[in-house]
Amino acid sequence: MTSPSRAQSFRCEGIVLRHRDAGEADRFITLLTPDRGLVRAVARGARKTTSKIGGHLDLLRHVSLTVSEGHTFRAVGQVEGIESYRGLREDLGRMSRGIYMAELAERFSVEDAPNPSVFRLLASALGLIEKTWDGTSARPVPAQGVILSEAKNLAQSSDLATRPATDSPTLDLLARWFEIRILHLSGFLPRFSSCAECGRDLEQRDHVFSAERGGLLCPDCKTAGGGERLLPAGVPAIKLLRHMARSDWPAVEGLRVPPDDLAQAERILRTHLRHVIDHKINSAAFMDEVRKWRNGGRRPPLPEDEVSG
Ligand SMILES: [Zn+2]
Repeated sequence: MTSPSRAQSFRCEGIVLRHRDAGEADRFITLLTPDRGLVRAVARGARKTTSKIGGHLDLLRHVSLTVSEGHTFRAVGQVEGIESYRGLREDLGRMSRGIYMAELAERFSVEDAPNPSVFRLLASALGLIEKTWDGTSARPVPAQGVILSEAKNLAQSSDLATRPATDSPTLDLLARWFEIRILHLSGFLPRFSSCAECGRDLEQRDHVFSAERGGLLCPDCKTAGGGERLLPAGVPAIKLLRHMARSDWPAVEGLRVPPDDLAQAERILRTHLRHVIDHKINSAAFMDEVRKWRNGGRRPPLPEDEVSG
């Protein structure tokens, strides 16, 4: 029996998670596909201005494409656009969250192993980033936002200069919801309702969270072992985490969460993700920098992997 990956070529749809330049005019891309998980391939000539496929292979584009097997690398053939998420790539705040979600999706996927649920989650989350708007983000993007166009593949500078910036709590909430969903789909959702150590139901009060032990701890179990890091988890943050763990986005979207509680939930989820993935999440720093940048300071550089040329 021939495995699908051994066929001469195949057609698939995928979302561009990552790319980097190679040689004079080529580009290596990493795609998340529903049926084959991660697919890495070289797009020959994609950086030539005359390339028919280059523009389709920008970050976070949803495309349909032909991939052929090669001796060393798979190669991209024909490409057709399915969804460009234009509203996402016109705003650095949205884009930074999209890049972050794409990295998480990559970390929770493997090459040539189907992962349709994570694919669907990413596709719908990117669509939500594009559409989510809570009216709190009316500040214009500073003019230096056009520097993003140096990354060549992200946006039209004129759009970036005129679109409102999005420093939106709803987008932060969406990123947290995405983290919880991808943890759930991958079987790594922490325990938020019972003690991760003894399994007893937790009373409604402040607790602590341990990534090592995989959840919240009751007062009897919370004594830290050697080197264990315990994070504070107040009642509002716990309620938020529980709610997000059992809810689809429409039930989360309208929540107005005090910034401190959202930050606490973020710290818990990020620490847990870091523990599960066992690797630094490169784009998290970029997302943080973009948020800080809204409040002044230097425009953050794109994460290294994403910068072209
Ligand atoms: Zn316990």
